[in-house]
Amino acid sequence: MSASPEPVIIVGGGQSGLAAARAALSARLRPVVLEAGEESVGSWPDYYDSLTLFSPARYSALPGRAFDEGDPDRYPTRGEVVSYLRRYARHLDADVRTGVGVTAVRQRRGGGYLVHTRAGDEIAAAGVVAASGSFGNPHLPELPGRVEYTGEVRHVARYRRPEPYAGKRVVVVGAGNSAVQVAHELAPLARVTLATRAPVRFVPQRIRGRDLHHWLHVTGADRLPRPVLTRLIRHAAVLDTGVYRDAIASGLLPRRDMFTAFTPDGVRWPDGTSEPVDAVIFATGYRPNLGYLATLGALAPDGTPRQISGVSTTHPGLVYLGLEFQRSFSSNTLRGVGRDAAYVVAAMAEGLRGAGLGPWLRRRRPVRR
Ligand SMILES: Cc1cc2nc3c(=O)[nH]c(=O)nc-3n(C[C@H](O)[C@H](O)[C@H](O)COP(=O)(O)OP(=O)(O)OC[C@H]3O[C@@H](n4cnc5c(N)ncnc54)[C@H](O)[C@@H]3O)c2cc1C
Repeated sequence: MSASPEPVIIVGGGQSGLAAARAALSARLRPVVLEAGEESVGSWPDYYDSLTLFSPARYSALPGRAFDEGDPDRYPTRGEVVSYLRRYARHLDADVRTGVGVTAVRQRRGGGYLVHTRAGDEIAAAGVVAASGSFGNPHLPELPGRVEYTGEVRHVARYRRPEPYAGKRVVVVGAGNSAVQVAHELAPLARVTLATRAPVRFVPQRIRGRDLHHWLHVTGADRLPRPVLTRLIRHAAVLDTGVYRDAIASGLLPRRDMFTAFTPDGVRWPDGTSEPVDAVIFATGYRPNLGYLATLGALAPDGTPRQISGVSTTHPGLVYLGLEFQRSFSSNTLRGVGRDAAYVVAAMAEGLRGAGLGPWLRRRRPVRR
């Protein structure tokens, strides 16, 4: 029996949307998931082919359903995650509507929202969960000469496999997991340089014979709030069994300081030399994909949501899921999103039941993103 006569619309049917739907059902709200794609498996099918999870299966599950019955210490493949999410959605028994893209959310006079879809429909909603990820909004830095450069410029979001780059001169930009993994798999086939602003930092995948995620779990580091965490960890680091560090140290995967500009046929390095380059792949991150909230006035001028720990500071009944560091290090991961889902849905439910979000919001200082 639903406590809310109108649905809570969840925009996005990836792991965040599914975790939100589960939390909403537990809170006796009526979730309706609107997913633009054909299946509610998020962006996982579009990640590069060789991707395996950085966490073992035992630390890669959403609430209420173990990853599967296979070896809990293996690192699942991209395809296994897709199958897991498919199963998760099936067992959730929520109203998941695929092929429904949300174009705008507007506030309704008297409370609640109208959610507009690409097909021209308008759906009344008591509340909205923005769970649309960031993969649809890849970030490319502005660099001098890019317009004149005649080679290939690609964000890693559109990279799938190394074979098309065989024999080519390629620069991969970035110092995170994706940059290093992609550069490393290109290295045997192409002439690759990894371009980063500073030397790459590594964090060991295994410590004292256990996966890092075991220690994150038992120490509680996975749940630390962002302000505490950023005092402890000041720089992003690449998870490594030693293979990437060795590849860079041995010159198998050369690293250089980031180039300063494009030239018409390549790049200019900080020492002033120019080099012809066939392709530059930017693994430079993503930004929240929330364009449908722009007219609502819920976003800052740079497109990031005005929120505290995933709860909108501008619109009661609007919450976010899957933001990087939303509440902790694990917010934007399979293992962590469930905790955030319970939290934001509880805040939303409190608002919808008439308690109002004002006092709840005043207890927390704004999150700087
Ligand atoms: C390369 C890569 C590797 C990663 N590896 C790991 C890992 O090993 N372990 C881990 O835990 N995490 C990993 N992550 C982080 C994170 O878990 C994933 O990015 C995950 O896909 C995020 O899930 P999500 O549901 O928040 O977003 P997404 O998976 O991006 O799902 C968002 C969904 O919203 C839909 N959507 C978007 N806009 C609209 C709209 N307007 N209307 C309707 N639907 C919309 C999209 O179609 C999509 O299905 C990785 C991320 C990347 C990019």
